Amino acid sequence: MGGVEVMDGGRVEPSDVAPGGHPADAVGDRRDESARRAVRRAAPDRPPSRTSAGVSSEGGDPGFSLVVLAPRDDVSVYAPDPADAESLRASGTPHLYAGVVEGTGLVGPLVLPGETGCAGCLHESRTDLDPAWPRLIAQWRSGRQRQVRPCDLTLATTVAGLAAAHALAFLDGRAPSSVGARWECSVPGLHWRARPVRAHPGCSCAAAERGNGEHLSEDGGSHETMAVQRPSEQCREAEAERPAGTWRAHV
Ligand SMILES: [Zn+2]
Repeated sequence: MGGVEVMDGGRVEPSDVAPGGHPADAVGDRRDESARRAVRRAAPDRPPSRTSAGVSSEGGDPGFSLVVLAPRDDVSVYAPDPADAESLRASGTPHLYAGVVEGTGLVGPLVLPGETGCAGCLHESRTDLDPAWPRLIAQWRSGRQRQVRPCDLTLATTVAGLAAAHALAFLDGRAPSSVGARWECSVPGLHWRARPVRAHPGCSCAAAERGNGEHLSEDGGSHETMAVQRPSEQCREAEAERPAGTWRAHV
């Protein structure tokens, strides 16, 4: 992998401490700085670091090969807002959703904009099943303060590891099963199952018109740069510049 860019807001809370994530002695530090340190610790033979500004401002900016969206609040995990990924869709940036809502961990879909099912497709498919869905989700998004609830640490760590595996498979030029699907795992049964996220003809991403990503595996080329982004209100100002984000083992 060429590089990992990190974006997050706030400071590390005791509940953020997790294996492979924020260490106990980082409590009180800025989350983004602590996460960057965690990334660098994981790559002891790393090349000299590049600043985020360096990555985004180099001539002929190639953008990110993948952005991982790891929202904290329940609603954004369960029903990702298509608007949060609009800039990624517009720039054609592949992105992967991952998170934990209560006792359920979710990984996927990995979206290839305009080619495979996206958050908008997911929304449209849910609306087909329940016409009241748009009203319901609008109430959830507007009527509640976004909350970060406690979640099972082992589940969160598992979700983080699986999301990383899917991301790395994609960056290696493969087509992980999260393309066009969402993996779900709930405690205490811990059965993994995949739910399809099909391209929907009613979604403005137009993926339904172009098939459902069958040609991904033919790509074969590796992708060099990954970013992890949390699409919260705290990140919006930076989104205007260039998607970036943070890896959170404890989402
Ligand atoms: Zn779509």
